[in-house]
Amino acid sequence: MIDVASKLDVELVNVDISNNFEKNIDTIIEDNIALKLTSLAEQVSKMYGDLSKVTIHFPATPLCLKGQNKICVESIENEWADTYEVRVLIEKLLPQINVVFSLEDLAEENIKETIQEEWELELPRSERKRVHIAMFSGGAGSAYVSYYMVQAYGKENCKLFFTNTLWEDEDNLRFMDEVSEYIGLEITEILDGRTPEEVFYDMRYLGNSRLAKCSEELKVRQTLIYLEELRDNEKVEPILYFGIAPHEKHRRDDSHVKRRENNIEENSADMNIRKAAGIRSFYAHFPIEPIETRFPLIETLREDINAKGIIQYEWGIKLPRMYTAAIEAAKLEENVLAQKLVARGINGFSHANCGGRCVRGGFQHYATLYAIWPDQYREQEDMERRFREHFDKNVSILKKNGGSYTLKQYREDMEADGVEKYLFQSDDTIPCVCSFS
Ligand code: SF4
Repeated sequence: MIDVASKLDVELVNVDISNNFEKNIDTIIEDNIALKLTSLAEQVSKMYGDLSKVTIHFPATPLCLKGQNKICVESIENEWADTYEVRVLIEKLLPQINVVFSLEDLAEENIKETIQEEWELELPRSERKRVHIAMFSGGAGSAYVSYYMVQAYGKENCKLFFTNTLWEDEDNLRFMDEVSEYIGLEITEILDGRTPEEVFYDMRYLGNSRLAKCSEELKVRQTLIYLEELRDNEKVEPILYFGIAPHEKHRRDDSHVKRRENNIEENSADMNIRKAAGIRSFYAHFPIEPIETRFPLIETLREDINAKGIIQYEWGIKLPRMYTAAIEAAKLEENVLAQKLVARGINGFSHANCGGRCVRGGFQHYATLYAIWPDQYREQEDMERRFREHFDKNVSILKKNGGSYTLKQYREDMEADGVEKYLFQSDDTIPCVCSFS
């Protein structure tokens, strides 16, 4: 406000409304707006003797409210008043004054563009243009939320954001391309350029079920850089959308979920809602200024929405093969383990990032990987071995009894004891937030 007054070379009059808090103002307008208008009228009366020479101009109305004769009485876009009611109140308080509403001539975007580009002034955060960004991870939830976001805000105001770790399963990429085409919005893909393995070498630290530097470097850091650049270069304010849904009943371990909740709280019984709370808290604290986060599958949409069914049967897009990998593997007569998984309603991986190689996957995840895609398990086992040899360190992705427990040891134990023993035993490791970002 100070910058604008200085640019226009006019006095900025600061009206103190605290004196009117206790007053009972008789009007049909909402109390808070009446309070502001009454305080404004008092100040104007004090400043000017002949009110017939004074005109009060109210600001322009955003395009979305044009035609409704509503004006914004506050810079924060949440206090709207009907122009007729405002006029009646002002004329009651200041009978001879002129009132003008700039309803018709100015479009909101033009105003903002003029202020930013011609006047070269920075808009306050509350006034910057919003850009809606779906954290597009290759999962069905994020695909559905992307569609919802574009329907609600228009593709010109939206982005599909994807951070590629270079370990992604190729069919995830196929799925993402098809969803992007269906929605009609290109993917904004950001690459660090390293694989998780290369990050482990650079950090001299093997990512594991407790600490995954790959997620920090390849996803979180890249996302924050992108968002801050967006703010700096395009002068827009991002709002992030995540496809996290409350824990699905048919997933393996939902015994701890007592009920469906739609409040995002860190102490929720639902692991996914706790994860959402963690993400919200992260984006509230880590960017230079807080970034708003939205979780439509928890907060806005019907609880029972079947994103996978809609994508497959309404959009006609095949889900990423990781969701159905067990079904495919079970078609091979000799893969009894995959058949057992499917018999228990487990059709594929619950965590579809990094091609099943997520270092935060835990015992059950790696048993599933061994059962469905043994070659991919071997690849990860080799990666772990290479790292151990290169740095001559006794480290591992999985941990047992507080110590190292390599994928080779785990495979040998599974082969000795029978994989089934490990396949249906859920562990309490929390998969990384990469599945949602
Ligand atoms: S999905 Fe797992 S392995 Fe991949 S970047 Fe995230 S934490 Fe690392």
